[in-house]
Amino acid sequence: MFSKILIANRGEIACRVMRTARRLGIRTVAVYSDADASAMHVREADEAVHIGPSPVSESYLQSENIIRAALTTGAQAIHPGYGFLSENPDFVEAVEAAGLVFIGPSAAAIRAMGLKDAAKALMEKAKVPVVPGYHGDMQEPGFLAAKANEIGYPVLIKARAGGGGKGMRKVDEAKQFSAALASCRSEARSSFGDSHVLIEKYVANPRHIEVQVFGDSHGNVVHLYERDCSLQRRHQKVIEEAPAPGMTAEMREAMTSAAVKAAKAINYANAGTIEFIVDGSGPLRPDGFWFMEMNTRLQVEHPVTEEVTGLDLVEWQLRVAAGEPLPLKQDEVRLNGHAFEARLYAEDVPKGFLPATGTLHHLALDESARNDTGVAEGDTITPFYDPMIAKVITRGETRETALMELAAALRHTRIAGTVTNRAFLEALCANEEFSSGKVDTGLIERQLDKLTAPTNPTPETAALAALIASFGDDITRHCVSPGEKNAAPYAAAHNIAVEPFAALGGFALWGGRSQFADILLNDELKTIRVQKQEYGKYRVDLPAGAQEIMLRSMTCSISRSNSHPVTSGHADFEMDSGRHKAWFARWHGKLAVFADDGTFEFATPDPLEASEGEAGGAGKILAPMPGLVKKVFAAAGDEVEKGTPILVLEAMKMEHTLAAPRDGKLSEVMVAEGDQVEDGTLLAAMEEE
Ligand code: ADP
Ligand code: ADP
Ligand code: MG
Repeated sequence: MFSKILIANRGEIACRVMRTARRLGIRTVAVYSDADASAMHVREADEAVHIGPSPVSESYLQSENIIRAALTTGAQAIHPGYGFLSENPDFVEAVEAAGLVFIGPSAAAIRAMGLKDAAKALMEKAKVPVVPGYHGDMQEPGFLAAKANEIGYPVLIKARAGGGGKGMRKVDEAKQFSAALASCRSEARSSFGDSHVLIEKYVANPRHIEVQVFGDSHGNVVHLYERDCSLQRRHQKVIEEAPAPGMTAEMREAMTSAAVKAAKAINYANAGTIEFIVDGSGPLRPDGFWFMEMNTRLQVEHPVTEEVTGLDLVEWQLRVAAGEPLPLKQDEVRLNGHAFEARLYAEDVPKGFLPATGTLHHLALDESARNDTGVAEGDTITPFYDPMIAKVITRGETRETALMELAAALRHTRIAGTVTNRAFLEALCANEEFSSGKVDTGLIERQLDKLTAPTNPTPETAALAALIASFGDDITRHCVSPGEKNAAPYAAAHNIAVEPFAALGGFALWGGRSQFADILLNDELKTIRVQKQEYGKYRVDLPAGAQEIMLRSMTCSISRSNSHPVTSGHADFEMDSGRHKAWFARWHGKLAVFADDGTFEFATPDPLEASEGEAGGAGKILAPMPGLVKKVFAAAGDEVEKGTPILVLEAMKMEHTLAAPRDGKLSEVMVAEGDQVEDGTLLAAMEEE
């Protein structure tokens, strides 16, 4: 076994690999970019080496710098994680040429599966069922259109070099084919440097079921059962589970033996995944699944397999890479219980799942679940990398209990400082089709409105928010301890009269007067009057009516995040409607309340800033996030209508079209194609009305 390895990755997967290495007594070397200088994977490694500036092309994709870091630190092997260089055969060869071990498959195996068309041809030869379609060399549009007709609509055009859900177009009828082909090609060229496509039959009611395989250098291959990854958005996985709902013994036998056959066909060693598309229009049937692609690396969703098999896949990767045989034979691999994984991201769901950035001023993951994460409270989600916060993983004896635990874990997860998809994931857990096991890749899209319906805070949450906002920066003085004998709640409960000014220090500041809290409630800035009545008891004049609120207890603590003080705490309070509990976090100008009805962030804005923002809002197009200007459609002087596309911004893996906010004339377009812009950059402006 190795005594020191380098992890050529960042974030949760780098931390995940280190966890196993540490358990096995292997020393770890992290690599990092400028933006990651103090990231968790750097903090947790035994050693860390700086490899370049923040953009991935200048750091995590710099194979030479990474190999040099391994050599200078004396690491014997490199684990690539997923993404970045994990499926790059040239990197594998360079690692081996430097006398190091690549913890993953051979360059030849990666090459064989690297392009979807060649992989399908190979699988056809190995007698693994592949999706019907055309995956030959001819690329002439007329020829491909004729092939699409032969295959029969709907079809899917796929970039052969595609990945991460990109470079795919579903086409429903012949007349849309040529436009879809052109746009798929252009996306493929810009994302993968290869515009070659294949055409596939679009499988109706598709389910994505994949099989985890593992090979060693002694010719053994086993499977570790299947995972269902049908809950997807834009071809990207959202929640994964193992085993697949509705799986039968017959179907499992057919799928796993096809997967093992596929891996054996390329002498596969190490961890790999064979992805199948499955006809989900009825019960699973052994002739209703087809090979889509093989991912020659550890998969993001590998934890669900670990949970149901009780195995550590990273340990297997390390053992196999060190030349050991597979730890178990096929009949020793057991499937036990059910597991789920939800991908928790910093993204703005109402804005169409825009990737978001921000500092995690408050972060409390639910300890009862397994959370694979690469960030801690106070860390920042930067625009340079995948905005993942954590993978929330649960296991139960049955699907029902595992899903209940996932829902609970998501409900108890508290994050403030950036928007997240937490509420969306929680809504998904409660979705009836999903919970009954009726999954297919269209489920999320079909139920999107229901899953993303915005919720407004209840009067209880709003009252607590206004109350805490009215405390100003000094919440600590207003904390209430349940044990305080002379406190009003105690007195009230025991029918004792208390002198209203007898209480703690903070009280004098109020002196019975009203305080006013400016908070953003349901998208409107409101000034709310809060009056203290007695120790721990307040009247809050919400727009919908006055509410009395009595703090039974309120505790808080202060920490620092990005040099800002953050006060976070817990309140146990009573209103007419009964007793409630909530958590909160407050930092410069912001207040987050985590209650039963959800997480709500309230701005407690500076009035000056607000008015400037409003004046600028109407006719200005600002970058909603950091990104790259991909296309500019309009120029200064153009007459535009509300909704006319002005430009396309590419951020993370997606393109976002920014449109005119109203009818009028463009006075200026400040950016050009190829410009990199920051969050909030003024991109274009309209003439005054
Ligand atoms: P999985 O099935 O594990 O979700 P994906 O193909 O979605 O596999 O990719 C997993 C990870 O690999 C992504 O989170 C991303 O970081 C990275 N990745 C894969 N393909 C690409 C790509 N073409 N461009 C950028 N990142 C990619
Ligand atoms: P990537 O490399 O981006 O992961 P895949 O070929 O694995 O690309 O496809 C990604 C997703 O697209 C699948 O999980 C599935 O939801 C959908 N998909 C792919 N091929 C088909 C098909 N032939 N019919 C229906 N859906 C498909
Ligand atoms: Mg895939």
